[in-house]
Amino acid sequence: MVPPNQTNTIDFDAAKLQRLGYSSHRPHSLQPIGLAQLRQQLSLQLQTSLDVERILKLFFSAVQCLVPLDALAYQHPISDLRLELGERANHTAGYRLSHEGEYLGELIFRRRLRFSDEELAQLESLLASLLFPLRNALLYRAAIQSALRDPLTNTGNRVAMDQILQREIDLARRNLQPLSLLMLDLDHFKRINDSHGHSVGDEVLKAVAATLKNQLRNVDMVFRYGGEEFLVLLSGTCREAAGMVGERLRRAVLELQCLAQGHAIEVSISLGCATLLPGESADSLLRRADSALYVAKRDGRNRLSMAG
Ligand code: GH3
Ligand code: MG
Ligand code: MG
Repeated sequence: MVPPNQTNTIDFDAAKLQRLGYSSHRPHSLQPIGLAQLRQQLSLQLQTSLDVERILKLFFSAVQCLVPLDALAYQHPISDLRLELGERANHTAGYRLSHEGEYLGELIFRRRLRFSDEELAQLESLLASLLFPLRNALLYRAAIQSALRDPLTNTGNRVAMDQILQREIDLARRNLQPLSLLMLDLDHFKRINDSHGHSVGDEVLKAVAATLKNQLRNVDMVFRYGGEEFLVLLSGTCREAAGMVGERLRRAVLELQCLAQGHAIEVSISLGCATLLPGESADSLLRRADSALYVAKRDGRNRLSMAG
């Protein structure tokens, strides 16, 4: 009989790794292993994940069966990835990884002891096993990121917003921290489209999104909520501070210099600000910010209104 609190979960990753002889309970350094055998094991092992960090951790730990290392660093700026495993040391062997012209990042092995030529040859041979798993993981990461971003403004999209808002609410509640939200909408945006065309409208949207991100500490918290509506999540921010951020954003957008065929376009935003109440749901918080935005519009636009 299964005790009531026991769950019958199988960790497929751990199971597969154990089968491949990589159980975390077994110290790798005690198992002498040849290059060919390690390459074979590595290529199986690295297939078990599509997460760049996990793949590099597996690689770092497996390589040590053959070549002791103190650290491994990896960076791929296009994906905004920078990882450091282990402890820094003087001697380095660095590799720029690419496959058929596609750049896959820089990898640096570090060690206190100098690398011998034989060790370098072994490292290079093992790097071949990393190539395809790393490329697949980078592609997967890019696909996930693009599914969560609005391509026009490069802000988070509605899907990302729903996920992150709920996560931030849970975190705020657990850590007893305040959480505020700004909902903002471009004023008379239809007029800009009507007078200057849709593509100028698109440029204005991009410029406003860039201005918002420039003004904020955490650019990952800006979302395109609708056509010309954005949402800014301010974690750890109380009502008063959120009001100040909102005012700063309003002024920054007003100072934007947008030109269409030599003519200046006036751009302004209206904002509604709401701060999470004890026990409040995401829907209710959004509704209160939306109502505050409605008040800002009704009272003349180009202003901030605080939810009650
Ligand atoms: P208000 O001050 O009351 O918000 O007036 P408004 O004109 O901004 O609001 P309204 O809802 O009447 O119009 C919003 C317009 O935004 C209409 C829609 O065509 C335009 N819009 C929505 N998405 C995009 C987009 O991606 N690009 C462009 N160029 N326009 C868009
Ligand atoms: Mg509008
Ligand atoms: Mg609108």
